[in-house]
Formats: sequence, C-alpha cells, structure tokens
Amino acid sequence: MQFHLDGFRPGDPTIADPAAALPPDVPMRPLPDDVDVLIVGSGPTGLTLAAQLAAFPEISVCLAEAKPGPLRLGQADGIACRTMEMFEAFGFAHLIEREAYQVNEVVFWKPDPDRPDTIRRDDRIPDVEEGISEMPHVILNQARVHDRYLELMRHAETPIVPDYSRRLVDLDLPADGDEPVVARFERLDDEHPGVIETVRARYVVGCDGARSQVRRSIGRELVGDAANQAWGVMDVLCVTDFPDIRYKAVVHSSDQGNLLIIPREGGHLVRLYIELDQLDEGERVANRNITVERLIEAAGRILAPYTFEVHEVAWWSVYEIGQRLCDKYDDVAAGHEASCAPRVFIAGDACHTHSPKAGQGMNVSMRDAYNLGWKLAAVIGGRAHAELLHSYSEERWAVAKQLIDFDREFAQMFSAPPKTSDDDEHGVDPAVFQEYFRQHGRFTAGVATQYHGAPLTGTTEHQHLATGFVVGMRFHSAPVVRVADGKPLHLGHVHRADGRFRLYLFADRSVPEPDSAFVRLCAFLADDPGSPICRHTRLGADPDSVFDVRAVLQASHHDLTIHDVPSLLRPRKGRYGLIDHEKVFAPDPTADVFDLRHIDRDIGAMVIVRPDQHIGVVLPLDATDELIGYFDAFLIPSA
Ligand code: FAD
Repeated sequence: MQFHLDGFRPGDPTIADPAAALPPDVPMRPLPDDVDVLIVGSGPTGLTLAAQLAAFPEISVCLAEAKPGPLRLGQADGIACRTMEMFEAFGFAHLIEREAYQVNEVVFWKPDPDRPDTIRRDDRIPDVEEGISEMPHVILNQARVHDRYLELMRHAETPIVPDYSRRLVDLDLPADGDEPVVARFERLDDEHPGVIETVRARYVVGCDGARSQVRRSIGRELVGDAANQAWGVMDVLCVTDFPDIRYKAVVHSSDQGNLLIIPREGGHLVRLYIELDQLDEGERVANRNITVERLIEAAGRILAPYTFEVHEVAWWSVYEIGQRLCDKYDDVAAGHEASCAPRVFIAGDACHTHSPKAGQGMNVSMRDAYNLGWKLAAVIGGRAHAELLHSYSEERWAVAKQLIDFDREFAQMFSAPPKTSDDDEHGVDPAVFQEYFRQHGRFTAGVATQYHGAPLTGTTEHQHLATGFVVGMRFHSAPVVRVADGKPLHLGHVHRADGRFRLYLFADRSVPEPDSAFVRLCAFLADDPGSPICRHTRLGADPDSVFDVRAVLQASHHDLTIHDVPSLLRPRKGRYGLIDHEKVFAPDPTADVFDLRHIDRDIGAMVIVRPDQHIGVVLPLDATDELIGYFDAFLIPSA
C-alpha cells in the first residue's frame, strides 16, 4: 500500500479524507463517581489495558487522559513480532500488517576504508531469525495502533471511550485496603478550566508516562542514569540517492556521527534517528534549542556523499538517552506482600524508560498492560485471589531490568565511533555491533521473555514432553489443520484476548482409543467434580467460558472426524446449545507441530497457556492432580 505521496496525512490511508472519517467527538461528560478500574493515560499502555478490560462487560472502567484528544502522529513506530502476536489475539494484527512497513533485512554501513570521509555498505542480515514467530516485525505510526485499540473499545459490549482533557492531580489511598482509592482530576477543557472532579476506584493503574503522577502518588520513582547524549528523531518525506533508504539501515560515519534509518509505512515516509551533541552532566537536551534544520544537516553529513533533500517533516523530536527503572510496580511496600494486596499499579513508561532505537518502549509497555489486564479482570470477577496481583510487578519488573541492561549496552555501542585501531578503547568495531544486534534478535523481537516462579509458572519437571513449548515463555504458534472443515491455520491464533486459559491437549495416539490417556483426561475434565472446568466454571455458563480446551491429534485430518474425540471437544454452547466444531486439529502435512515443537508422540502432552499467551505449565496427559494443584494455587472455585 503506497500513500503520503503528496504529503503526510495522519489517519486511515484507505479513506480519501481520513480527517472527515474520524469518529465524532464524544461530548464531554462528567467523570464517573465510582469505577472498578481507573486507568490514567491513554498512550499505548493505557489503551492495551482498556482494550483487555473491554472484554469484560461487567467491569466498569474509566480511562482518563490529559490530552484533548487521540494522538495523531509521532512517537514510537516499531512493532515487534511478539506484539503482533498479541495484536492477533486482539483481532487486529492483519489490519496493522496491511498498512505497515515490514522489516525484512537490516543493512550496515560503515566508513569506507579507502575513502574514510564516505560510507559504504558493509553487510546485510535478516531482521528476524527464521522461524521465531509467524508474525512479522513491522513499522507503523503509533497513532494508528491507538486507533485500532480505540475502535475495539468503542465496539465492545460495554464501550470504553477515553475521557480527554482530564489531568490527574493526586491520589488518596485510605489506610483501610477495602476502601476505594480516591483520584482527583483537573479539567483542562476551555469550558471548565480548573474544575476538579473526583473518582473512587477499586483499582488505579498509572499508564501516565515517564513523568507519572500515579507513580509519585505511591511514593515511587524512576532510578537510573543518563548517558548525556542527545539524539534527534524525525519522520520525513525526502529525496535521496542513498540506495538503502527503504531498508532498516545502521550508518556509522567516521567522524560525523551515527544514524539509524527506519523506513515507514506508505513507501515514502522515513524515520531517522540521528546522533547529536554530547550533553554536560545533568544537562537536559531542551537547553540546547536544537532545531529540525540541525537534524537535517547532521543527517546529510552522515550520509555523505549521498544526497539528502527533505521536502516535508511530518514529526520530529529531540531527547537524551537514559535508562531508568522503578523498583516496584505497585503500592505494596517490599516485604509486605503477605499482608496486603495491591490497589494501585504503574505500567509502561511510568515504570521504565530507555533509548528508543531498539524499538522496545511501546512494545514492552503494551505487554506490561497485557500481563496485568487479565489478572485484574480475574480478581474483580471473583475468579482469582487478590494475591495474584503481586505477580504483575514481579514478572514485569524482571523483564524491564533485562531491557534496561540490554539498552545500556546497545545505546553505548550505537553511539561509539568506529574503532580505528586495536588499541582504540572507545571505538566499537561495526562488525561487533552487527553481531550484538544479531545475537539479541530474539530479545528485540519480544519472544525471549520468560516468566519464572509460582503460582503462575509451574513445574518444569515435564518440559521434556514438549521442549518447543517452553514453560514461562509465550506459546510459540505452529501451523495445524482444523479437522471439522480442513482449514489450515495457526494454532496460536485460536487464542483471543478474552481472559480465558487455553488447555492444548496433544494426543498420545493418532486416533484416540478409549483407553488412551488423552480420552481419560477428557473424561476427567468434563465430568470429575474436582477438575478445573467443573470447579471454576459457573453453573449455566458455556463449558469453555473459563478454560478453552483444544486438541491436536497425530493423524491426518483426512483420517479423522470430530466424532473421533470425546464430547468435551464438541461443546454445546450459547442460547440454542449449538455445537462448537472448532476445537480439534490435525498436523499440517508440510510442517507437523509434533516435530516442530518436539512433542513426545508416545506420551503426548498437555500445555496450559495463560490468558496473556504465556505457558503456565507442561504436563503429561495423566497428571490430573498436578493440573488441579496448578489452578488451585490462584483461582477461586465457583460457588
Ligand atoms: P505514553 O505514551 O507517554 O502515554 C502516557 C499518557 O498519559 C499520555 O497520553 C499523557 O498525556 C497521559 N498523561 C500523563 N500524565 C497524565 C496525568 N497527570 N493525567 C492524565 N493523563 C496523563 N519510542 C520509540 O520507540 N521511538 C521513538 O521515536 C519514540 N519517541 C518518543 C517521543 C516522545 C515525545 C515520547 C513522549 C515518547 C517517545 N517514545 C518513542 C516512547 C514511546 O512512545 C513510549 O515508550 C510509549 O508511548 C510508552 O507508552 P505509555 O503509554 O506507557 O506512555
């Protein structure tokens, strides 16, 4: 899809006049007095959380934002493979992919050894290692990601629409943990300047960015260091004879600095990250009064001898690199977890900030919210113990710590001049940088995240039954064929962001026999009063409303029908008790999931996947006690 030819236009490129097609402004309404969840900030973090909670119509949500309306341009643009997997669960990955630039290869440029004042292409490598995800790494204006979330929320059973022009002033946390948190907002719209509104919330989540007021209100701070290096970023429509302008390109010049080219959606727009001044200790980049003309000149010098003519700047910004992290992401003091459950959380840039060049900020932030959303919904819905909420800070802090450590090293290597000799201690050999980039590809794609620790990450004792489904990591999808209608699809794409657990049963026999472990497990799940389904599914609810059981058999779909499996896998649902025919799969003949994910064909395996797509535990098909124990640790039996 090509667009922006006659100038950058925010909004949906498939609509002739995107501005005219924007949803009508919702009239300003007073903030609600009481809600289950108050989200402060409608950046990508707040929107991910709100979109997740929109799957639960019974939960009341207020999403308050200081800005007067939705973001239209600028800020982050890189969407990692793992984030696309999450978007698939939200149902809009295909829309993002259709519009975005897809990063396939990365090229590396360095000073030409024969003419050091010019640059030459040194190497190119695949951007994403083969087979690590079925989803691509794409680049798209952050505002378009926001649009997709806003659309999803607007269309939910209980729609969620942000309340704009509301600035959080402060939070009051009553000593009694059962009392709601009280949030005070100042109205910023012209009609009500300075008017204060109050919201009482059972839970408050600060998705309010690096200068988070929620974080301040719970007495936490971002701690870390600044690298005292100024960088500029600009989205431009330009004309250049630099041959790799449509590749992601890392350019190290000999003495004019470094830059990163990120081609953007629409075939013409390009983002450039440009190294600028070294700052003094503690100095803010704002003091330097850096103009966009400076950015353009610096880019031109780094790209010399290639020409670089900018015709339009769609967005630009300057920033200083720093890596900062908050020590905990909720209001419970360290060491007091046993006596109280959290009521206030922070997520996204409110918890961690770092340089944007590895494209992690928005991605890691959204996945913070994805981790928290289903837990909040389960606790508010009375399905899980409130103690489960401690796991949010534990799991996501560890991810951010890894990110901060990676980013510090990556940013240093990026900013360092090319090594001039073996004795040069400050320079970095571009080949070493390139190798570092390659080695950390899984991390930057977002697929290396692994959670640890009880109750959500279970035993690894049975990992050998399916070594390609790593306990604690996200469920790595694989192709399968649906038995009922022969449709080839990705098994992971049956996962929706709906708060349900998935139980994937990989059968121990090609066609299940009555005495197989697979058939006995199905009977247990369906009929035994102690099974998780019987214990945790409310009377009258669809049988898969808490646990979505899917089976993958070893035979070809031509040799099977859905009547070869127990009735658990043909559940009757909805008002008419219609049959769900989409629970049973066979291997894809060209890429057998049992081989791809190294599943034991003799014993089979049961893979339990959390609502955020991470694997909770891998068990043998007869491990019913361990299955009960896993869920009993954090779920509450339904009455
Ligand atoms: P944010 O996106 O910062 O959203 C926070 C939201 O909270 C904002 O909408 C804000 O208005 C609102 N808010 C703040 N305080 C209050 C309050 N008191 N009351 C109510 N609402 C409040 N990342 C990249 O990868 N590449 C880039 O080039 C890049 N450039 C960036 C440029 C800028 C100017 C900024 C701010 C960020 C940039 N980032 C970039 C970072 C990336 O955008 C963030 O990592 C990502 O947006 C984090 O999302 P978030 O929702 O946690 O925070």
